[in-house]
Amino acid sequence: MNKEKKIYYFDYNATTPVADEVLSEMTPYFSRSFGNPSSIYRLGNESLRAVTEARRRVAKLIGAGEREIIFTSCGTESNNMAVWSALQAEPFKRKVVTTAVEHSSIRNLLANLSESGVEVTKIPVSKSGELDLVALERELTDDVAIVTVMWANNETGVVFPIERIVNLVKSKKILFHVDAVQAVGKIKIDLSKIPVDYLSLSAHKFYGPKGIGALYVRKTAPAFPLILGGHQERDLRAGTENVPAMVGLGKAAELLTKSDMNDHLIQIGQLRDQLEKALLKEIPGSFVNGKSSERICNTLNITIPNVSAEVLIPKLDEAGICVSSGSACMTGALEPSIVLQAMGLSEDEAKSSIRFSLGCKTTQDDIDYAVRMTPKAVEEIRKSKVGAGK
Ligand code: PLP
Repeated sequence: MNKEKKIYYFDYNATTPVADEVLSEMTPYFSRSFGNPSSIYRLGNESLRAVTEARRRVAKLIGAGEREIIFTSCGTESNNMAVWSALQAEPFKRKVVTTAVEHSSIRNLLANLSESGVEVTKIPVSKSGELDLVALERELTDDVAIVTVMWANNETGVVFPIERIVNLVKSKKILFHVDAVQAVGKIKIDLSKIPVDYLSLSAHKFYGPKGIGALYVRKTAPAFPLILGGHQERDLRAGTENVPAMVGLGKAAELLTKSDMNDHLIQIGQLRDQLEKALLKEIPGSFVNGKSSERICNTLNITIPNVSAEVLIPKLDEAGICVSSGSACMTGALEPSIVLQAMGLSEDEAKSSIRFSLGCKTTQDDIDYAVRMTPKAVEEIRKSKVGAGK
């Protein structure tokens, strides 16, 4: 018999497994309650009710009103829609302020916009990944249409002081968007207390399905659709609703709202710290990126000088360990992380960095295994010289 090899999953920032409760709540909406929410007979109404309930649950999770939630296909779409909305609303303001360490969904959108004449200003970060708030304040000029900043960094876990940033930006009456894709489930969010204009989230980062996200749009903020067609989402996001996915997002949000998030986060944080301490001790020359900054409790980004992530990641995979490098893999080659380089790492150091991200199923056994296998893999690579630099 073919015994399945155990997987030691350390890539929860990439995606999470769908929770059992989420899956079972979604299932009937694929085949039994399959109606189109726009249909006016009972089968359609059933779907509409499910979508309404999902919206209510998402709103509750972040302290928002139901009418402030727009379902999208993912975090990337939410980010695009926020920036697009501000630029459409402010046609005479052609400047966007962001940071040097955003996710590619913002970075590449803004690179594209800058080609069509939008001025994009990227606020730098320190070696430990902290945002230069003085530089940010200096850039808040009259021509800024929107400031877009992530809450928690997907690669390093570094958390930006969103409350302080919002206050700075709103004091200048500029629209503010926060990419909270990595923050939901790891930081308590209450938008009744923090006046952001837009917030992006994505279900697959907190035990919901892939292919569904939401954009929070404060009731006072402008919203313009990216996708035109039918009247779904109050004319703001056309296309027949993905009802099962919306139900899944709603359930994942409800599970989080009801969970004792603090206890869970403390536990994950302890496991992460244990892993971090052991790897630093066992791997000569290694260092942790963002170590002295506030970080979400599940993320560990470690540089292992002269050991290419491109070689180390497949080697760990052979041992059943899933980790990632924060950088994108393009045409088979690993691109050095822009985030790590913005924090002052050299291209080689950035290419020698891997990310462990923990989640709800991470156990002590997983940590012990990773602590045993990772230094071993590193040593083998260093000895073999394949994948080891100078
Ligand atoms: N923003 C951040 C910070 C992310 O980490 C990600 C995904 O990794 C996204 C946006 C994009 O989310 P999605 O995968 O739902 O498009």
